[in-house]
Amino acid sequence: EKPFYAEYIRERIRTVPDWPQPGIMFRDITPLLQDKKTFRVLVDVFVHRYMDQKLDYVAGVDARGFILGAVVAYELNLGFIPVRKKGKLPFDTVAEEYELEYGSATVEIHTDACTAGDRILLIDDLVATGGTMLAAAKLLDRIGAKVVETAAIVDLPELGGSKLIREQGIPLFTVCDFE
Ligand code: AMP
Repeated sequence: EKPFYAEYIRERIRTVPDWPQPGIMFRDITPLLQDKKTFRVLVDVFVHRYMDQKLDYVAGVDARGFILGAVVAYELNLGFIPVRKKGKLPFDTVAEEYELEYGSATVEIHTDACTAGDRILLIDDLVATGGTMLAAAKLLDRIGAKVVETAAIVDLPELGGSKLIREQGIPLFTVCDFE
């Protein structure tokens, strides 16, 4: 049973068929950001969920995870940690490579992004195969942080990523699903 706000948010996500390639149903969250009331509802879902948790940072995944993650961090009175695509961070980094449907991708984090033992909320916009979220969680683990929960707006359960993340013992919160 999904809470009252799930359908409100879900019906405002735009589906673009065959983008960026044939066969992909792209779930476009920009309408959620564009409308001031929807943006506030979206951010508040995350703020309410985490406001009483003892967290040290919010980490967000490049690039749509930055938009939501940074605002949620600000509202929770926490600092924000960017998990970036390869080659964007200027200081000492650790990297994780992961498999995509075609080829691979790499995410990076600064080695001094947080202190060992820090409690982190990790945010991205969407979980598909889970590769991105798991790679980001691994980076945080490698610098000694504790990923308290991972969170996204959208889950694509048929791609198996949400199941994979939870099987690794990492809690995952998502607002809504698309088949
Ligand atoms: P994955 O690593 O397979 O879980 O893919 C998740 C990442 O790819 C997220 O950062 C999403 O922004 C992006 N992504 C994958 N599939 C889609 C989709 N159908 N619609 C929108 N974004 C997607």
